Amino acid sequence: MTERRLVLAHLYPEHMNLYGDRGNVLALARRARWRGIGFTVQAVEVGDSWDPAAADLVFMGGGEDRQQTRIAADFLARGDRLVAALANGLPMLAVCGGYQLLGRYYRTAGGERLPGLGWFSAYTEPGAGRAVGDVVAETDLGIDPPTLVGFENHGGRTFLDGGDTRPLGRVLLGQGNNGRDRGEGAVKGRVVGTYLHGSLLPKNPHLADLLLRWALERRGQDPALEPLDAAEEWAAHAVLVGRVPGGRLTREAGKKRALERG
Ligand code: GLN
Repeated sequence: MTERRLVLAHLYPEHMNLYGDRGNVLALARRARWRGIGFTVQAVEVGDSWDPAAADLVFMGGGEDRQQTRIAADFLARGDRLVAALANGLPMLAVCGGYQLLGRYYRTAGGERLPGLGWFSAYTEPGAGRAVGDVVAETDLGIDPPTLVGFENHGGRTFLDGGDTRPLGRVLLGQGNNGRDRGEGAVKGRVVGTYLHGSLLPKNPHLADLLLRWALERRGQDPALEPLDAAEEWAAHAVLVGRVPGGRLTREAGKKRALERG
């Protein structure tokens, strides 16, 4: 079998790294390398030269308004090339601040309008107070179990307004995009935006593997991933799912998975 290799571009690790977002990159790297897949991480900071078309996977984390404002113009300047690559099937995961800047704009708590890439048909306005706490969402991405868990802390409220952008999931616990329509995150093509920090991927290994499979598939590499022992990851996942009031079915799915993998 030919050796499998992936290159992940990590956008703005210095400025956009809240609540353990970097752990997402570590989870992807570990889960790839444990299966013998070569995995290289390229950090891209403000002003660095970068060709999105050469990446196999992109990750961007969240940041405080101050950090987001610092990187926003640089990110926008990369917009045409990045959007072209995303339209060509490049998988990307963007958390919170990164997710907001994939919409049309993000208005900061101070009222400044930061234009985004417009990949997602969405926009973000400041809300009354911050949305903070544990989140459990149910997704129709086709992953098993269908639950995603994490921790949110955002001032912005995101509204999806176009048919080509669908919510990543329905909120079972927490606020998600805006605390009103029960939507959490966004999906368009192979691009996933979410408010879930935590880190997200260590507690949601099924989503990590979906991103790896997408990246392998796109490069014509064998997307089959051998199962890994993830008992601790699923135990953490089940703890959060267990906090959903009345979420019996979902809680059982979490437990079942923890047992299977244990
Ligand atoms: N600054 C943004 C907000 O408050 C994003 C925060 C984050 O990435 N956690 O909405």
